[in-house]
Amino acid sequence: MTFIAFIGLGNMGSGMAKNLVQKGFQVTAYDLSEQALRKARGFGCRTTSSIEEAVKGAKVVVSMLPAGEHVDDVYINHIIGTVTKDTLLIDCSTIDVATAQKVAGVAENHGLAMVDAPVSGGTAAAQGGTLTFMVGGHHTAFDHAKPVLNAMGKKVVHAGGHGAGQAAKICNNMLLAASMIATCESFQLAQKLGLDPQVFFDIASNASGQTWSMTTYCPVKGVGPVSPADRDFSGGFASALMLKDLGLAMAGAASVNATVPMGKKALEWYQAHCKEGNSGLDFSSIINRLQ
Ligand code: NAD
Repeated sequence: MTFIAFIGLGNMGSGMAKNLVQKGFQVTAYDLSEQALRKARGFGCRTTSSIEEAVKGAKVVVSMLPAGEHVDDVYINHIIGTVTKDTLLIDCSTIDVATAQKVAGVAENHGLAMVDAPVSGGTAAAQGGTLTFMVGGHHTAFDHAKPVLNAMGKKVVHAGGHGAGQAAKICNNMLLAASMIATCESFQLAQKLGLDPQVFFDIASNASGQTWSMTTYCPVKGVGPVSPADRDFSGGFASALMLKDLGLAMAGAASVNATVPMGKKALEWYQAHCKEGNSGLDFSSIINRLQ
């Protein structure tokens, strides 16, 4: 039996921890929120009142925290000095590449293996155990992490060295944001030029303009498969989270002097969209800014 410590039982972490329990892992969990801990006890986790207590004796630590500063604090001030040398550290939060590399470097200096393993897929995939993991770290650490990640997801990909998982995640989401905006503006133009949205969908989804944002996640109500547009943009992937990921992509781009004009424009659009009170709506609600 592998003993796992799980830190961060929010919207994503609670579903992930639950899947680990259901796959037979013994999970000790910690979160700042008493409500999150109560919920975790309900699906079979042991809970503790500190991170140190949770990670003591764990063979694997998994974390799912809001942002880079939380990951930095939790690992550097609480985990790295507490766990034994054979403990594998897996951070699944979406954070900046620089912090992922820094924390993994500190862990390595203490003789500990660590991978960054951000996810694609939202809360439904976390609950359903169908996440995709993009993993950065050494081959041996990746092989060690794989059975644990497989218990929470449907696909686990080794992206490269430390930080490569985060790099893959932010590049993917930058592309998604820009392609969603482009999909929205195409539907809007098509409609203004007199095309029926369904007719435009039937053509473009079978032509060179086809995008995932169109065929799987269409931002137009009643067109394509069921998507957040069909429920007034509730649920799905919040615009605030897309804005967060675009900020991380811009930080990554600045750190290597990359030119990302579409990503920059997408950031400006999501910034304005969130300021206008739409942070909690699915990111495809950006179509409303065009109307
Ligand atoms: P969340 O805010 O719901 O959960 C974060 C949890 O971490 C909270 O329960 C909070 O109490 C806990 N926490 C914060 N600081 C802590 C500390 N010092 N010690 C212990 N617990 C602490 O966020 P979420 O939606 O679950 O997202 C988690 C991560 O997953 C983020 O990095 C996010 O960008 C990423 N992500 C989210 C989604 C999504 O759809 N929600 C999708 C993909 C990736």
